[in-house]
Amino acid sequence: MFASLQSFIQDTKWGLYQNLESDLHDLLYLFWEATRQCNLNCRHCGSDCSKDSHPGLPAQVVTQTLERIASVYSAQDIVLVVTGGEPLVRPDLFDVLKIAARLGFRLGMVTNGISVSKPMAKRLAEAHVDNIVVSLDGPKETHDWLRNRDGAFERACRGIENLLEAGVPFVEAITCATPKSLEQLDETYRIVKDLGAHAWRIFNIFPAGRAKNDPELLLTDAQLARLIENVARLRAIGQAEGFPVNLSEEGFLGWDWESRVRDSPYFCRAGINIAGLMADGAIAACPNLPTWMNQGNVLHDDFIDVWEQGYRLFRNRSWTKQGACATCSKWNVCRGNSLHLWRTPDGGPSWCHYQILHPDTDLQRSFHLPRPDWLPFLHLQRTKQKR
Ligand code: SF4
Ligand code: SF4
Repeated sequence: MFASLQSFIQDTKWGLYQNLESDLHDLLYLFWEATRQCNLNCRHCGSDCSKDSHPGLPAQVVTQTLERIASVYSAQDIVLVVTGGEPLVRPDLFDVLKIAARLGFRLGMVTNGISVSKPMAKRLAEAHVDNIVVSLDGPKETHDWLRNRDGAFERACRGIENLLEAGVPFVEAITCATPKSLEQLDETYRIVKDLGAHAWRIFNIFPAGRAKNDPELLLTDAQLARLIENVARLRAIGQAEGFPVNLSEEGFLGWDWESRVRDSPYFCRAGINIAGLMADGAIAACPNLPTWMNQGNVLHDDFIDVWEQGYRLFRNRSWTKQGACATCSKWNVCRGNSLHLWRTPDGGPSWCHYQILHPDTDLQRSFHLPRPDWLPFLHLQRTKQKR
C-alpha cells in the first residue's frame, strides 16, 4: 500500500516535471549528423551508413544554421553533438567545429574511434571537443565481429587512450549489447575501466537500418531483462570503484529499477530539449528516429521557427495512447516509451520495458516487436536561455 502510494507520488511529480520541460522546450542538445559516410560497415548500423552514403550538408549551410541558433539562444547552453556516419571522415569537419566553438557552442562527438590517432586526438582536444563517446562493443572478437573489421577493437582502444592522453575532459565508452556481448559484460567492464575511460554506457540495438534484417543482433525479452539486471549489478560495482556505469534511455523501467541503472530517471527528451540536423538538411530530434518524425529541412525552413512552432508530436505525446499504452496506469510517466521505438505512427513502441520487468502487472500486451535503441548522450543540465 505504502509502496504503491509512493510510486503514485513519484509518477505524478515526474509527469509534472515532463510537462513543464515540454512547455519550456529549451534546446540543450543539437545532434549534427555531419555525414552519413563511414569508414566501417557495422552489422548493426541504424543509419545503414557506408563510404558511399550522403556526404552531409555543405559547411556553409551548417554554419548559417548555427549562427541563426546562436543569434536567438545562448549557444553556451547548447551542446553540439557531432555524429554520423563517422564524423571524422568529413574533410571540412574542423572548419565547422571552429566556427561552432567561436559561436560559443559546447562540443561533443560520437565516433567509432578508428581514426583517432594521437594527432587526431590532439586536434580534437584543441578544437574543444570536450565530450567524446567512443564505441566499444565488447572484447576483441565480439567488437570486431559487430564492427565487421579485424583490428577495429585495437584501434578503438588506442583511440580512447589517445583522447585521454590528449586531455579531452570526458571520454565515455559506449557498448552495444547483443546476445553475444550480453555474456561478456563483466569482461567489457574491466576493459573499459582499465583503459581509463571516464564512464561506460550500455545500450542495445533497435530494428532499423541493417539491424532490422539481422535477428541475431536483437535481444529477446528475457535477454533484455538480464541486460538490465547486469547493468544494475555492474553499476553497483562501479559505484564502489568510482567508475560511472549507466544504461541509456532504454525506456521506462519502473521506479524500482530506474535508480539502479542510471543517474537520472528515464525521460525521452527528443524534441523537448534535443534537436537534430541531419545530413540531408532534415530538422529532426534524435538521430535514428524514423523520418516520419522529421519537422522540416534547413534547406527551406527556418530552424528557429521550426523549433518554436513545430515538434508538437514530441511535446504532446497523447497520440501514443494507443494499444496497451491507451489504458496504462504508467502512461503519465512513461508516455509510450522512447520515441525511437515508434517505427510507425500507429504501431506502438517496439518494446514495453516496464511490462518485461514486471510480468505480473496487469498491463495488456497488444504489441511486441523486436527491439531498439541507440545513442543517448551526456548529462542534461538545466540552465537557459533565450536572448
Ligand atoms: S529515448 Fe530515444 S528518442 Fe528519446 S531522447 Fe533518447 S534516444 Fe532520443
Ligand atoms: S504500456 Fe506503454 S505507457 Fe505503459 S509502460 Fe508500457 S510502453 Fe509505457
